[in-house]
Amino acid sequence: MTGPDHIAERIETAADALRAATRVAVLTGAGVSADSGVPTFRGPGGLWHNFRPEDLATPEAFERDPQLVWEWYDWRRQKIASAEPNAGHIALVELEEIVPDLTLITQNVDGLHEAAGSKHVIELHGCIWRVRCPAEGTVAENRQVPLSEIPPHCRCGSLVRPDIVWFGESVPGDAIAAACCAAEAAEVMLVVGTSALVYPAAALPLLTSQRDGAIIEVNPEPTMLSELTHLGLRGKGAEVLPQLVAAVRRE
Ligand code: NAD
Repeated sequence: MTGPDHIAERIETAADALRAATRVAVLTGAGVSADSGVPTFRGPGGLWHNFRPEDLATPEAFERDPQLVWEWYDWRRQKIASAEPNAGHIALVELEEIVPDLTLITQNVDGLHEAAGSKHVIELHGCIWRVRCPAEGTVAENRQVPLSEIPPHCRCGSLVRPDIVWFGESVPGDAIAAACCAAEAAEVMLVVGTSALVYPAAALPLLTSQRDGAIIEVNPEPTMLSELTHLGLRGKGAEVLPQLVAAVRRE
């Protein structure tokens, strides 16, 4: 069965599971911000000057050409600065108000969950609005758009880098430990807008599933996770999530 009735029925089933749960984990990826106009890595608009993100978001690329990497980040920062949280981000804030214990784990670096008002957010991959000085080991907020200096420097004179976990780097220990705890404890994990290709984030739903937690996936396309998913809600986050949260609110 396909079509609107089918998705409505699935949303009701997903809402029942969320309503019955005390502990819920939400895992989001770039797709949750696509409806705010922020390009995903693997969808249309993901390429910049014919460079693949995988070839720019690496320590090697930064070592080789910090100017190029910072120009790309400056472009992304400008896109994100003009973006607003969408109805999907807002629905997740409302879900946090309903569920007794909800942890939102995001792979996104755009800060849009926090801007929407989500409180309990674990940022696995850092934040585009922070810079890190490798020489001093310090992290500072930097929201200047566009940047006045590319590449930017620290007050100590050293080159700074985005405070982002690049391909080939490890997720900070405290963030992944907290995410694993939330995934293991969750009775339901809601996975939104991730292709589930980037580890260790992609392994988190397995932790929930191994402990008999249910996986609900919101994504217009099937993903690597779809086989593990108990309930696939095919659609855009900004459309499906508000319907889902409205259904959770209905007794
Ligand atoms: P990805 O680009 O690999 O995959 C995006 C997924 O979102 C796809 O499965 C796609 O089908 C789905 N999608 C597209 N439009 C959607 C919509 N409207 N609603 C719901 N889903 C939609 O992204 P990823 O899995 O997050 O992995 C890429 C990495 O890139 C992450 O580590 C992340 O840090 C980084 N990234 C972050 C941002 C951001 O912060 N906004 C943007 C691009 C990439």
